[in-house]
Amino acid sequence: MSPVVRPFISEESIQERLQEMALKLKGRFDLEQRVVVIGLLKGAAFFMTDLVRALARHGLKLDLDYMSLSSYGSGTSSSGVVKVRLDCREDLEGAQVLLLDDILDTGNTLTFALDHLKSRGAEKMVTAVLLDKPDRRQVSVTADMVGFTIPNHFVVGYGIDYAEHYRELPYVGILEGVQ
Ligand code: 5GP
Ligand code: MG
Repeated sequence: MSPVVRPFISEESIQERLQEMALKLKGRFDLEQRVVVIGLLKGAAFFMTDLVRALARHGLKLDLDYMSLSSYGSGTSSSGVVKVRLDCREDLEGAQVLLLDDILDTGNTLTFALDHLKSRGAEKMVTAVLLDKPDRRQVSVTADMVGFTIPNHFVVGYGIDYAEHYRELPYVGILEGVQ
């Protein structure tokens, strides 16, 4: 059976939810100071791009940066070991940071990223994820803001891949027919 993507969260639902998230996130920061937004590549790229434009409409001063961490191979399960592939370059000493990831799954990635950014000097950390799969958690971590809480499906689209495919889809779908 060849893989099939079943539409799950529409483009409209995602965009609508991002506006709500931006409004709520605004209240978490000191608006007089810059917020360093750090997206975890590659999955959070679409989420970040749309969310920061929504945040900018609320007048937040943003600096954008990215990190690349590895935990998944090209398959569909986490190895649990997280490594820094590409570190962010911004000076985080005393900064308020908004950390973005596509999916909070076992929790290993977000836990590692939080520790790492704190060790880089971040003073205030706020985390937001597009999708949360609480049933899959291996370490106890929660995001400050969640776009959508979902059951344990393997999803793709809106930046999220399977072996580098499907990132370009404007919606989130459930990938069926792969093991
Ligand atoms: P964690 O460390 O929380 O297990 O993993 C989070 C990362 O695993 C996400 O950033 C994402 O890259 C990947 N991941 C978790 N669930 C899925 C999924 O359903 N589909 C895809 N493509 N990646 C996932
Ligand atoms: Mg990821």
